[in-house]
Amino acid sequence: MSYRGRFAPSPTGPLHDGSLVAALASWLDARAHGGQWLVRIEDVDGPRCPPGTDDVILGQLAALGLVPDEAPVWQSRRGDLYQAALDRLIAAGLAYGCACTRAEIAAAMGPRAKHGELIYPGTCRPENGGTQGRPVRAWRFRVQGRIDWQDRRLGAHSQDLATEVGDFVLKRADGLWAYQLAVVVDDAEQAITDVVRGEDLADNTPRQIALQRALGLPTPRYLHTPLVLAADGHKLSKQNGAAAIDIGAPQERLREAMARLGLSAPPVSPALGPWLAEAAARWPGGHFGSGS
Ligand code: GLU
Repeated sequence: MSYRGRFAPSPTGPLHDGSLVAALASWLDARAHGGQWLVRIEDVDGPRCPPGTDDVILGQLAALGLVPDEAPVWQSRRGDLYQAALDRLIAAGLAYGCACTRAEIAAAMGPRAKHGELIYPGTCRPENGGTQGRPVRAWRFRVQGRIDWQDRRLGAHSQDLATEVGDFVLKRADGLWAYQLAVVVDDAEQAITDVVRGEDLADNTPRQIALQRALGLPTPRYLHTPLVLAADGHKLSKQNGAAAIDIGAPQERLREAMARLGLSAPPVSPALGPWLAEAAARWPGGHFGSGS
């Protein structure tokens, strides 16, 4: 299958030094494989996405010479696809309605409810009596067992979804689609062969693979890029106020992002296009074991 990659920003804020690394890595990997590179705006969580931020991000990418090969898509316009996937999972007995509130889940978990990370104990699973006539709040995926998977940079990984994650949400109590379902549906619908994204998302991958298998969809290859840490050692993110990148000096920003990927950047060039082509030639795609 011919290579298709993507960059999938959530437009909760403009691109910052951390998200630029993921954008550039996915672009370089696509170019180094002679593949296509797509941009998908992951705005399912509408209330967290200030209006116009999508355009700011697309403008930043354009200024950096990272131009998608197809028109971008917006997750907020793709609810019908997510509903169809949820309906299939429900029909297959792999998703169920859940009436529990967070407080109820925390109470049911007892002392195991730690750090606010709730592992749903399966209260509303049909075999446990379902919602017992209470109204459905959220829809959950029924997890089973362990997922083994391979990352092109981080190597072999394994996670027991039943004990480490629990039945996770596909459609939230507020009616919004969960990232896990939307990303799986879209990666398949856009025929993505290679997901290149930040390492903070690596522990989402087993949930996504489980959903792909439940929906009969192919599993792409995964490459999780190193995280960019702020001076205080925390992950650089929009949430902790990372500054929008200064696109007045695109080659400087791209050079910094390459350094964070452990690559030496090409010498400054008067034109961005040839500079980026040379950067792609330095991308160690084969070294990451892409196998294509
Ligand atoms: N939208 C997610 C984010 O910006 C990335 C999703 C992905 O690459 O799978 O954090």
